[in-house]
Amino acid sequence: MSGTGISVAIVGGGISGLVCAARLAQLGITNSVVFDTGKHGPGGRCRSRYISINGKLHIFDHAVQFFTVSDQRFAKIASFLHNKKTVKLWHGKIVRLKMGKQPEEIKNMQMFIGTRGMQAIPECLSSLVHVEGHKWVSSVHWDPLNKKWQVDDNWFDYLVVAHNGKCASRLMEHSGAPLIHNLLKVKFGPVLSPQTQVMQLCSLWVLLFALQQKVALSYDGAFVEHPDVSWIGNNTSKYCENQLECWTVISTKAFAAKHKVPQEFIPPSKEKEVTNLLLNGFSEVTGIDRKTLTPCFTKVQLWGAANPLNVLQGEGCVFQASHQVGICGDWLVSPCIEGAAVSGLSLAEVICRHVQGERRDVGLKNHLQPLETEAIGAFPTSKKLFFNPNK
Ligand SMILES: Cc1cc2nc3c(=O)[nH]c(=O)nc-3n(C[C@H](O)[C@H](O)[C@H](O)COP(=O)(O)OP(=O)(O)OC[C@H]3O[C@@H](n4cnc5c(N)ncnc54)[C@H](O)[C@@H]3O)c2cc1C
Repeated sequence: MSGTGISVAIVGGGISGLVCAARLAQLGITNSVVFDTGKHGPGGRCRSRYISINGKLHIFDHAVQFFTVSDQRFAKIASFLHNKKTVKLWHGKIVRLKMGKQPEEIKNMQMFIGTRGMQAIPECLSSLVHVEGHKWVSSVHWDPLNKKWQVDDNWFDYLVVAHNGKCASRLMEHSGAPLIHNLLKVKFGPVLSPQTQVMQLCSLWVLLFALQQKVALSYDGAFVEHPDVSWIGNNTSKYCENQLECWTVISTKAFAAKHKVPQEFIPPSKEKEVTNLLLNGFSEVTGIDRKTLTPCFTKVQLWGAANPLNVLQGEGCVFQASHQVGICGDWLVSPCIEGAAVSGLSLAEVICRHVQGERRDVGLKNHLQPLETEAIGAFPTSKKLFFNPNK
């Protein structure tokens, strides 16, 4: 399909949008542009922070901690990223921590991490496609006469909405594609309302902290049962660094709902309160004396639209043939890197079939189904090892 001249605007440069663009290019549709707001690069919820402490850079994964592979199509992407030295197997010890109980090791889960933090993944994918970074798309409009999308000041044949939350709903509200806007309506909360047919997202707080001295724990990461903390992860052991000890602590959904503030403006008093409460939680679940937890660096962040609690089950994406518009994202498959990637792949293939003449809507009538996952997302695994990095 090379040289079709077909143009695609992809609004959102998370894993789903980047994979969608890369797959379109592979299928011959090379004229696509990924627009992403990220100030420091695309990646969305799959990014890391490189923080200078005492003049040295330290890697902190502040959202995605690791990913798993269960889908054959995603295994090919993981294999590609592995060959590019973008991801590697993580042999860290992951446990389940319940207060007052011995840590329970989680075995038989093949885990992958970026080689320079999780951010290595979007960096590699964005090298394959055209990304307009640090770019906020503020208006999109369907012109039914010319069958084109106006995206801010530019015109495209197809539009892909590769993000969710309030931004996506607002962007599509007056776009001329009401069916698509309807699916993007969203509400927020830690517990899914029964029978809801609206996408529901939870929020999560993240605390990053560094200690001068190593703490003696027998594990590198833990899913935690605690009212305030859902995950703790040791970035220093993960990335084999030997300076300070850098930890990520991720809150529970309930904690985030209780302490919700505008994520762009966190009042200093809330920052202090959340830091203190999550450090208390870390101390309680690890058994490390709180008085000895005196970080030389702390930073908190609120992911207002962290993870979906329900997914629109079906073919992995949504597409309205008459309007040449589609949606991809983790909430159409599963809240994880694999889910986002599979959704991006699916939509690229649907667009390609539409270019070839197929006129079929996808997913417009599907229903939202509740989903039970870890607070930080899903970790799909398969008994069959799809991906053997030693091959
Ligand atoms: C705290 C946390 C921990 C997690 N841990 C894990 C984990 O360990 N393993 C795992 O597999 N998954 C994990 N996840 C889930 C994983 O991060 C997501 O499933 C995945 O990254 C979603 O990708 P996406 O492309 O669907 O969306 P996103 O990553 O949200 O990408 C959307 C992009 O669109 C951009 N955007 C929005 N509006 C506009 C606009 N108007 N113009 C331009 N750009 C716009 C956003 O800035 C963003 O970059 C975690 C999520 C969170 C929040």
